[in-house]
Amino acid sequence: MEKSYDPKQVETRWYRTWSERGYFHASTAAEGRPYVIVIPPPNITGSLHMGHALNNTIQDILIRWRRMQGLNALWVPGTDHAGIATQNVVEKQLLAEGSSRDKLGRDRFIQRVWDWKAQSGGTIIEQLKRLGASCDWDRLRFTMDDGLSKAVREVFVRLHEDGLIYRGKRLINWCPRCLTALSDIEVEHEDTTGKLYHIRYPLADDPATHLTVATTRPETMLGDTAVAVHPEDPRYNRLIGKSIALPLTTRRIPIVGDPILVDREFGTGAVKITPAHDFNDFEAGLRHDLARLAVFDQHARMDASGLREAHVEEALRERLASQPVQKARTFVVEALEKGGFLVKVEDHAMALGKCYRCKTVVEPYLSPQWFVKIQPLAEPAIKAVESGQIRLIPEQWTNNYLGWMRDIKDWCISRQIWWGHQIPAWYCRNCNAEAILETTSPRSLTITSEAKPIVARTAPAHCPDCGRHDFVRDPDVLDTWFSSALWPFSTLGWPDQTPELKKFYPTSTLVTGFDILFFWVARMIMLGLKFMGPVPFKDVYIHALVRDAEGQKMSKSKGNVIDPLQVMDKYGTDALRFTLAAMASPGRDIKLSEERIEGYRNFANKLWNAARFILMNLEGPRAESPAIERSEDDRWIMSRLNRCISEVNAALEAYRFDEAANTLYQFIWHEYCDQYIERAKLALADKNSRQAASTRKTLLESFDVLLRLLHPFMPFITEEIWQAIPHTGASIMLASYPTPHTTLIDESIEKRHLWLQTVIANVASTTSANRITPSQGFSVVISSPNIEVVNFLRPYDGKIKALTRASEIQIGSDVPIPDTASANTVYIVNGEANVFVWPHSGAIDIAKEISRKEKRRSELNAQMEQDQKKLSNPDFVAKVPPDVLEKTKKRYEECRLEHEKLSGELKRLREMAGGSA
Ligand SMILES: [Zn+2]
Ligand SMILES: [Zn+2]
Repeated sequence: MEKSYDPKQVETRWYRTWSERGYFHASTAAEGRPYVIVIPPPNITGSLHMGHALNNTIQDILIRWRRMQGLNALWVPGTDHAGIATQNVVEKQLLAEGSSRDKLGRDRFIQRVWDWKAQSGGTIIEQLKRLGASCDWDRLRFTMDDGLSKAVREVFVRLHEDGLIYRGKRLINWCPRCLTALSDIEVEHEDTTGKLYHIRYPLADDPATHLTVATTRPETMLGDTAVAVHPEDPRYNRLIGKSIALPLTTRRIPIVGDPILVDREFGTGAVKITPAHDFNDFEAGLRHDLARLAVFDQHARMDASGLREAHVEEALRERLASQPVQKARTFVVEALEKGGFLVKVEDHAMALGKCYRCKTVVEPYLSPQWFVKIQPLAEPAIKAVESGQIRLIPEQWTNNYLGWMRDIKDWCISRQIWWGHQIPAWYCRNCNAEAILETTSPRSLTITSEAKPIVARTAPAHCPDCGRHDFVRDPDVLDTWFSSALWPFSTLGWPDQTPELKKFYPTSTLVTGFDILFFWVARMIMLGLKFMGPVPFKDVYIHALVRDAEGQKMSKSKGNVIDPLQVMDKYGTDALRFTLAAMASPGRDIKLSEERIEGYRNFANKLWNAARFILMNLEGPRAESPAIERSEDDRWIMSRLNRCISEVNAALEAYRFDEAANTLYQFIWHEYCDQYIERAKLALADKNSRQAASTRKTLLESFDVLLRLLHPFMPFITEEIWQAIPHTGASIMLASYPTPHTTLIDESIEKRHLWLQTVIANVASTTSANRITPSQGFSVVISSPNIEVVNFLRPYDGKIKALTRASEIQIGSDVPIPDTASANTVYIVNGEANVFVWPHSGAIDIAKEISRKEKRRSELNAQMEQDQKKLSNPDFVAKVPPDVLEKTKKRYEECRLEHEKLSGELKRLREMAGGSA
């Protein structure tokens, strides 16, 4: 083995070997219960960021762990075509070349995107390989490959047949920059302060009487088609049926009674209705059969023909034509003020909707779109989670999921872009002559909501109504999430009944961030239940976000991005993976810093050094059990190891990657390397002793187990070391995952060793605090009234002496205790033993020792006070997760015990200080 660990060459070499040997492939013919994960497909435009690194590390840990357990583990990889995102990337390139998608035309533009994908779309896949992801690359899928496109068409046609997909002119969220519809959850809401304008609306037949309406968007008043009051409001109900002379227009609009839209207690009690520009008004418009007057065009500019249709006064109309929203608002408010219609303007807190892709303010826009009727699909998906067929982990997400699903709105699935699955609907030109509006320059195609679509898997041969063959295809494409909603079964070959589908569906676990719980997870559940019957997955593990060390969101503009690729170059992939696993506490965002990663790089080096020590000490007879019984130290480490195995497996079963990683870290660093290997060095000093034989055997056995236990977290270094030590099997990837031998767990050995550890640690901290060096010499005296303690410690006298580097040691129940009154002696209470450290020359600074211990005691006081406060707060006790409560109680108890001991030691030190004074 090399003197120091060089991650780069090891990682490349092993990943290639694993891949070439087909270790990642899961065969339908393989034995073992299937364990399946489908990857959340990263966008083809994507480059690996920390979120991906966390998400995929967790999946790889699960897959490697289950594979080693003997399960037929399949991790299905793939990428998403990412409609708007990808189209934007290619459009930007065209712009830079002085071209545009319109110049290219639809077919050539789409070809251009495929070319781009062939060149740059595989970047993220190569980056996942660097992360060590053991995906079955033979089964790599793409949301627009032939098989998945077939699945998309099949689902669309069947949902349409079942009456669950419809086309209609509805108000939808519209991005005036991307020029496409967005679904409700593609709109991000941002709190802001706007203005509330109160406007006077005079009665048509009685201009002296008026109603006052309030709006944050005065420019939309030009498209008002009614005013609503509450039918039971005595102030206004007599006006229902009368008309308003709508200011700035020559139109009259009715006053209607609407108890849903109007809250009598709120505002002025009168509400303007603009069905073409507001979602609630749109619904009210349906109730009262009101016209919809759109005064804005698709670019969110005032539309000349819309203004004409709305009978806006001519002078204003000319001023407003083609003006953007803000300008239009200024002009309309000016005109209202001039006409004496503006009552007042106030500040108003409001939420502004923005496009999640480009952050442009989203406008409600009236246009023909395709929708999924979602209620019938949502009901079984609610039941699947309520009944526990699908578990969300951590459980707290269940309420978010259920709340959202119970209030779900129809899903707008059409997008007015080119890159994506084009909707499989055709219109007969002959039968829909009026409804198909086509111009050649500039090229545009509008199909009104009156057109009758023919939905089919392939282009129809003849029109069923007129028998002709002259069709135009619906130009819209499907929301990207439509195809990813089919991911768990489309990737396995559906709609064909493939062996893969039979073997690997339903999948086992989905690992995802909470930000796509509704975009993706909920929709996979709905469509999985609809088309497959069984749930698409049983467990959904929802991880947190990765933020910077201060808890800030990582962003290029803030300059606080930690790039996983750079980190892997600098510290090695295993260090990054281990960091992310160790920090993945449920429900808490990860505050990542480079220091943490560096720390786990040191951990990898520690493991490497341990391996080198073991390899260099293999020479000599190795005890074959049961010929030689293991020494006490060896039995101790085997006990601790088996406890560690049991804890790591339990943590992984519970998706507690943080607990699994921290258990491994604590055990390997503090017990295995710091204690066991140090003691092994002593045991091996006499190469031919029985003890050396026992230790050699135990070192090898335990190290092999430990590497296998660590492999899912740190796949590369564990393979490299495992290959260097004696082992059976071709690769650690295929070796079995350790299970605990409970017979080797020995409570009493562990308890005794805990005493031993604390004695050594106490002596070490005392000597270092007092700068007592081995060269000046010091004695350690351990006395205990408990004969069991003495009997256990006595055989270790040589070891304690060696490990603490004391020049002399005495252990017993009646050993002469140093004269604490005159000697420079430090006294430590350690459980049932009293420990004295006695320097042979020089002096212990008792005052310093007192102040050191007092400092520690006040730290303990502060901690205890804090915990006491929490524990006596009923809110804390009722609301925190049980494990946090348990931890707080335990910490309080530990502090109390240490506090008690320290007080005893301080009392003794003060007596000494007094005595020597
Ligand atoms: Zn946009
Ligand atoms: Zn026809």
